[in-house]
Amino acid sequence: MRSLKLAALIAASWFVIPTHAQQLSGESSILPEASYIDSEVTVEQVLGYPMGTKITSPADMSRYFEALKQAYPKQVKLLEYGKSWEGRTLYYAVISSEKNMADFDGFMQGMQALADPRKTDSDDAEQLIDELPGSIWLSYGVHGNEISSPEAAMMTAYHLLHDQREQTQQWLDNTMVFIDPLQNPDGRARFVDRYYMSVGLEHSGDRRSAEHNEPWPNGRTNHYLFDMNRDWIALTQPEISGQIDALLKYYPLVFVDLHEMSGDSTYYFTPEARPYNPLITEAQRETLNWIGKNNGQWFDEKGFDYFTREIFDAFYPGYGASWPLYQGSVAMTYEMASARGHLFEREDGDVLTYADGVQQHFIASISTIQTVSERREALLQKFWEYRKSAVEAGEDSDVRSIILPAKDDPAAARKLASLLVEQGADVQQAEEAFDVCGTDYEAGAYIIDMAQPAHRMIRTLMDKQVDMADDFLAEQEQRRNNNLPDQIYDVTGWSLPLMFNVDSHQCDDLPGVATASVEEGRIEPGKVINPDAKVAFLVRWGDMNAGRFLTAALQEGLEVRQSELAFTHESAGDFPSGSLILTRADNEGGLQAKLQALAKASGATIEGVDSSWMTAGPNFGSHNVSKLEAPNIAIAWDEPVSAYNAGHTRFVIERQMGYPVTAIRTMQLLRSDLDGLDVLILPEGRYADVLNDKAVEKIKQWVSDGGVLLTLGSASAWAVEAGVLNTKLERKVPEEGVTKPEDETKVDGKVIESREQFLTEIKPHGADPDWVPGALLNAEVDTDHWLSAGVKPQVISIYNGNDVFTPIDINQGRNIAWFADADNMLASGFLWDDIAQQLPYKPLLMWQPTGNGMVISFTQEPTYRAYMDGLNTLLMNALFLAPAKAQ
Ligand SMILES: [Zn+2]
Repeated sequence: MRSLKLAALIAASWFVIPTHAQQLSGESSILPEASYIDSEVTVEQVLGYPMGTKITSPADMSRYFEALKQAYPKQVKLLEYGKSWEGRTLYYAVISSEKNMADFDGFMQGMQALADPRKTDSDDAEQLIDELPGSIWLSYGVHGNEISSPEAAMMTAYHLLHDQREQTQQWLDNTMVFIDPLQNPDGRARFVDRYYMSVGLEHSGDRRSAEHNEPWPNGRTNHYLFDMNRDWIALTQPEISGQIDALLKYYPLVFVDLHEMSGDSTYYFTPEARPYNPLITEAQRETLNWIGKNNGQWFDEKGFDYFTREIFDAFYPGYGASWPLYQGSVAMTYEMASARGHLFEREDGDVLTYADGVQQHFIASISTIQTVSERREALLQKFWEYRKSAVEAGEDSDVRSIILPAKDDPAAARKLASLLVEQGADVQQAEEAFDVCGTDYEAGAYIIDMAQPAHRMIRTLMDKQVDMADDFLAEQEQRRNNNLPDQIYDVTGWSLPLMFNVDSHQCDDLPGVATASVEEGRIEPGKVINPDAKVAFLVRWGDMNAGRFLTAALQEGLEVRQSELAFTHESAGDFPSGSLILTRADNEGGLQAKLQALAKASGATIEGVDSSWMTAGPNFGSHNVSKLEAPNIAIAWDEPVSAYNAGHTRFVIERQMGYPVTAIRTMQLLRSDLDGLDVLILPEGRYADVLNDKAVEKIKQWVSDGGVLLTLGSASAWAVEAGVLNTKLERKVPEEGVTKPEDETKVDGKVIESREQFLTEIKPHGADPDWVPGALLNAEVDTDHWLSAGVKPQVISIYNGNDVFTPIDINQGRNIAWFADADNMLASGFLWDDIAQQLPYKPLLMWQPTGNGMVISFTQEPTYRAYMDGLNTLLMNALFLAPAKAQ
């Protein structure tokens, strides 16, 4: 009996499973009706354990796909689309019949032609629809701790290459199957390493066990702790921008993003929940139904539970499962209950296994391949119609063109133009001045002709408002009346021009002006004007080009001064407050060459001047001009910090501003002194759980000694509660006329005259404001302060959650930015009426001098998803100018 090999013994000890749960012993056990040819590339032969019995590491997954390619070179391609931050290769497999694969390039060209009705006529399209295979893109494992889907990717690939039955062969004859087996290898590696480290003699299904509780940061996110399933509009992470590049080569007709959800649930597939994004068409919704219905048949046959429609909407376009919809494909999310390990004891008493997840994701994968195969022609036809209707929609639209003047913030305009190009839009740049729709534009303005196949993609990224249906909103109000959570899954405002705070004009006409096509490239190389200047070089402050220049110059060891006030130079003209000054006298040796290199990399325009004479404002030697030092910036890391906000903030400073940040674990903040730190960032977090009175005193003392404490979002609420920031948090405004004495059990009687009054009477008293799922709000800026140097008088912030602060008293500090008045506050998205009344004039950014140092508090997250670019100058002032103002 005990004659098992050692390897099998180890596998067995890691796989103790109650008999009622799904057990796997390789590929054949997952789909017993399949008829697999003998193969040397089963998971067991390549990796040493049967399919579905171990959570495969990213490295082993690569080995497995490599083995499939070696074994079936005529049917499998492996193509790279980038590297993760930790250096892992990002790749996808293409699997189809030998015949289809032999003409892979022809397939790609065919889809490109079908995608552009401006270049392809109906006859050619008809022929393409007749001949092209269908196509599907299956994306697995974007959340690294949602573990079963990547294993199902291996199973799906194995199945397609080994099942001899007629049906599977037909699928391959009809379909190009793209498999992205692992969108987030860094997150999965983090999960897998930690998981097997925490396993004992037997696997535990107990949700309290170490196996089932990941340490900070969990495996969901990538290296910079992004939820990459929100990154599909701003493309900040290589895992998503690379995938989008690949998708735009082939326009796969169907895209599926496979996830996991709570282990107590079942399986979710399309059709999706409300609210619907109005830019998704009826024809697309019909396809989603076809796919869901076919999945339902498979799940019924296998006896798997599932649900549809109740959760998971595609309103926000930044999900993997929504972005392809705006290109004319259909896209959807699948969600499997997660065992989050080998075993999970459900609340209903059943044991869910890893193998259950692998099997159900596999069945959903092949069921969807079947739908694409069987509906090949209809799907191609619909794709063509969609792309044609997109061009027509642009021709007939009031928004015939969109123009970015690129004047007030060229860095942001350039980045926005590039982001559109990266997402499949045609963007032109004017080569000379022009006027259209009553406005004059200079050469260099970006022009988007809206009569193009990516029309709806552009609209959803650029429109200031996308409305949810009235009856859906009424339903949400009703739920709020009944103290139920709303059904809005994510943010309701995401307009890129608003988030970048850059001008964008919609026009019902198309300008007639010579243009050049814009290529990808988020930074336009800058230049040095008058490089032989005798006295100094100046950089206008207020955009990311200048910010990147500053961080690079400080790291190069250049001497940089910054003017707190605006000035007018006798020959170079006007410079806003915050502008940078590098004098020849301060910087000897090789300055010119260094500046040329910095201008090119940062995008900054550097202007040389031959005198220091000003016609207005401070001269270089003024006390309003400070010398900047390279600050030592630290960020709180680890529990109880929000991993997202910590990661986003570190990413924005390191990768967008180009400056290193020291991550310090919160426990270290308790144990160590803070000497030598210039700026300490506290991202969102529940600091009261960890920072005791002694730690609070230490932080206060450090601030008083000259430190800059920067608190973000809920960390600012902690700062109030800990007595570090001298203002207050607000409860909800009480309903008018409603009073309920707290200490009395009997009150005077009252007549309730209407149902409306009744609903008012039962509203909670003394409660916090209601939660807002994420809207974009206008905020006004006090431009008369160094912390707002170079910043426009109005900025736009995300508002997420329900923190409302009272404005700080003027003897305690300054309100640097506050939410605009009620008529002008909402920039995009949705707000409940009562919080819309309460928020105007409440602070977004406060500054409080304390001893020699200061506290700077954003009441929301300026680094939210690293796409609130319009707040970057305020943030740079807090990071790089504030230390020069502290003593
Ligand atoms: Zn997920």
